Amino acid sequence: MSEVQIVWLRRDLRLCDHAAFTAAAQAGPVVPVYILDDETPADRKMGGASRWWLHHSLKALEKDLGRHSSRLILRRGNVCDVLRDLSEETGAKTVHALRHYEPWWRRAQGQLKDMLDLQLHDGNYLLPPGSVTTGSGNPYKIFTPFKDSMFDAIHGFDILPEPSLSSPDRWPKSETLDDLDLIPTKPDWAGGMRQFWSGQHGTGAAMERFEQFLEISKDYGEDRNLPGEDATSRMSPHLHHGEVSPRMLWDAMSRYHSEGARTFRSELVWRDYAQNVICQFPRYAEEPYRDGYDDKFWRNPNRGHLIQEELEAWQKGRTGYPIVDAGMRQLWATGWMHNRVRMITASFLVKHLLIDWRHGEKWFWDTLVDADYASNGTNWQWVSGTGVDSNMFVRIMAPLSQSEKFDAGDYIREWVPELADLDDPYIHDPQAHGCKPKDYPAKLIGHKEARERALETYRASKD
Ligand code: FAD
Repeated sequence: MSEVQIVWLRRDLRLCDHAAFTAAAQAGPVVPVYILDDETPADRKMGGASRWWLHHSLKALEKDLGRHSSRLILRRGNVCDVLRDLSEETGAKTVHALRHYEPWWRRAQGQLKDMLDLQLHDGNYLLPPGSVTTGSGNPYKIFTPFKDSMFDAIHGFDILPEPSLSSPDRWPKSETLDDLDLIPTKPDWAGGMRQFWSGQHGTGAAMERFEQFLEISKDYGEDRNLPGEDATSRMSPHLHHGEVSPRMLWDAMSRYHSEGARTFRSELVWRDYAQNVICQFPRYAEEPYRDGYDDKFWRNPNRGHLIQEELEAWQKGRTGYPIVDAGMRQLWATGWMHNRVRMITASFLVKHLLIDWRHGEKWFWDTLVDADYASNGTNWQWVSGTGVDSNMFVRIMAPLSQSEKFDAGDYIREWVPELADLDDPYIHDPQAHGCKPKDYPAKLIGHKEARERALETYRASKD
């Protein structure tokens, strides 16, 4: 009998296009394990919404493994301790895993390599970070040339099929999914998420949704900016938790040749780009890249600024800016927010309220089902103007005109019921039209005043 192989799963909860599963299955009976480790990531342990998604993802994977008469072993604790114990219990000398790049996973992978035979495989990104470089051989810092090089480098993918798995003579013990305590109960705040994502977990459901998206993908280039339309793929949580790989989506898209298909692929490249940035600057989600945006730049409670109340108004969707409030309420209810609205809400926090982007990044980390160290950090720094390739700080988005331009009326009606009776154009800016809808707050600050304050702060920081 060949030797038992462990497959250590993290954000790669699928069976197909999974090089670690494929390699392990070729070498011997496979023990798949997921370890809930809140110690290794330290203050980056998974947020509440991601944990909710993880529960459903693990459940779907258990079912998929069941089709192969296999199981998912669930454990809790420090990954290094758990994998050492599991390797002793099963006699497995080799652990296979897909390579992960978050700084805490890179450290853990390094430690594990000293302890056991850890075989790391690629596959959670289109190409492994570092695959494309500038003419001088350095990693890219700027998105557009990175994207062009990625398009040149990718010539299609051979998608790995689900391997056939054989089981060990004896299965090691496992906790149950409920033991992991990933679902909120007291209070149960996940009702909106259950409704929004009903029946949409796991590889099969994700690919079904993606096939539907492919049918409308030719209009993606334009419609992706309209928050009121269901015109984007909503693949982000599936990709983040690894129920599908970006290679699978790229490959499925190859039957389509529209402009929309190309734009979609560019968006997938953003995900690789974010990872490429984090590999170069591991603390990118924690620290501004550009000088001059430290604590002193932002409004600060230590200097008497009452930011807490405004931060909470933003979090709860009570800023008096309908598009911002709709987005923040969609996020709270469903764990997801439309990309255009993510940009508007992030910009509002940073430029209108002059609150350090890291407060927003942390809130998104806890509330997004797709909260991703690389994508979240990179996008927050991009919006804030503090990043390596970013929008300038002085380019201040006007939320009210964005709302009109991208036809957000129905989106606002859906998420801000206090405004549901207002027609366009009043709904975008009720205060400016003299409407005072019951229970809807006045603006925290006027747009003109906020813009001048932001520009003045920027000018002063340069003196
Ligand atoms: P689609 O438009 O269908 O795009 C397909 C896929 O491409 C997405 O699922 C995603 O994997 C990738 N993608 C698209 N846009 C981006 C982008 N700007 N950066 C990186 N990848 C992208 N995305 C996350 O996955 N996790 C995050 O934590 C996250 N935080 C964000 C924070 C802010 C402030 C902003 C402005 C954007 C953030 N994004 C994040 C990027 C983007 O908003 C989401 O990926 C997108 O809205 C997900 O919806 P979708 O799957 O329908 O996207």
